[in-house]
Amino acid sequence: MPPIAPITQDVLTIPRKDPVGDKINLVGLTREKLRDVLIEHGTPEKQAKMRVGQIWQWIYGWGVRDFDDMTNLSKSLREDLKAAFVVAVPEVVTKQVSEDGTRKYLVKIAGGHEVEVVYIPETDRGTLCVSSQVGCTLTCSFCHTGTQKLVRNLSAGEIIGQVMVARDDLGEWPEQGAKNTETRLLSNIVLMGMGEPLYNFENVRDAMNIAMDPEGIQLSRRRITLSTSGVVPEIARTAAEIGCQLAVSFHATTDEVRNQLVPINKRWNIETLIEALRAYPRVSNSERITFEYVMLNGVNDSDEDAYRLLELIKGIPAKINLIPFNEWPGAPYKRSSNNRIRAFSDIIHDGGYASPVRKPRGEDIMAACGQLKSETERARKSRKQIESEAGL
Ligand code: SAH
Ligand code: SF4
Repeated sequence: MPPIAPITQDVLTIPRKDPVGDKINLVGLTREKLRDVLIEHGTPEKQAKMRVGQIWQWIYGWGVRDFDDMTNLSKSLREDLKAAFVVAVPEVVTKQVSEDGTRKYLVKIAGGHEVEVVYIPETDRGTLCVSSQVGCTLTCSFCHTGTQKLVRNLSAGEIIGQVMVARDDLGEWPEQGAKNTETRLLSNIVLMGMGEPLYNFENVRDAMNIAMDPEGIQLSRRRITLSTSGVVPEIARTAAEIGCQLAVSFHATTDEVRNQLVPINKRWNIETLIEALRAYPRVSNSERITFEYVMLNGVNDSDEDAYRLLELIKGIPAKINLIPFNEWPGAPYKRSSNNRIRAFSDIIHDGGYASPVRKPRGEDIMAACGQLKSETERARKSRKQIESEAGL
């Protein structure tokens, strides 16, 4: 088996308390951690639970960032909080809106790194595609993000902060004292942006538990989908500690092809992955697993592939999401034809599974699946290209 780069390579450790300057950022702390930092900074233990509840409501219920606006806290407490803490979210550097209404935000996080966040409005829902890492350590050959060298894991605050800045932009924080409305502009989260969420497990878990908390953002775990390339040892943990919906980047029906498309398959092959997936719905009490399958012309899109896929997933409650390949500059693959995608989808459908074809969204602003990459990184690449074209 060829060696695979250690997963910690190039990953900077994120300090537990996510400091901003010399102050601690409260965004991203679980209720328990929030309680701990408040007590460490002088809140009497007896009051801590109540204070956590109040601050939580301001931050995640009403989107308030300034302690001075937290009017049910005494003035002196607000001063104390201001001296030790901040409520900080990533800074939106640019926002692009696609012809189809998709919004792409480029946000800046500590260290000057940038990640992309995509909001996709649909008739019955609005989905936010959230990033979990700057770049990705994995190198799936069809993925643009995979060509960017990983810089670091995002902290829990930077992950939930993406949801908060999108809510800011959508104007979706309820008035103080009010609750969320029934119909939400941002009703679903998918962890399908940049990075492999299961290589940043604790931060992703804490951020999603904040999103699902019964107070505040309050999204049901059925409205959160985590997509993994197949980090098998973390799948059972996802069921136990997050319990959200699971999507898996399957993309091939033989180990030979999957090794090439999703190289993590060399570590955990199809059989091992399927075994882990089989247990997931029961343990997480979720309905079904989404199998993502990118349609690459002549690579993984034959009728035989479709039949093999049906064999492999037998007995697993599943839906197969067919993703027409989104091209990016220099990509080594082509998208399968519409007829081929339809024929593949029909075989899966006749085999008893839902097999929707994902409609590419926001392609004109490079916001579609697998097209994300930091702008700075893109600029750097194109400068390199210019230099080589000029023979420098
Ligand atoms: N790292 C995670 C989540 C991010 S990728 C994962 O791999 O699952 C989100 C989805 O987009 C994955 O299914 C991924 O395989 C798919 N994808 C990546 N590049 C793509 C491309 N160029 N066209 C279409 N889908 C792509
Ligand atoms: Fe990373 Fe997912 Fe892209 Fe693979 S498909 S390189 S795991 S972001």
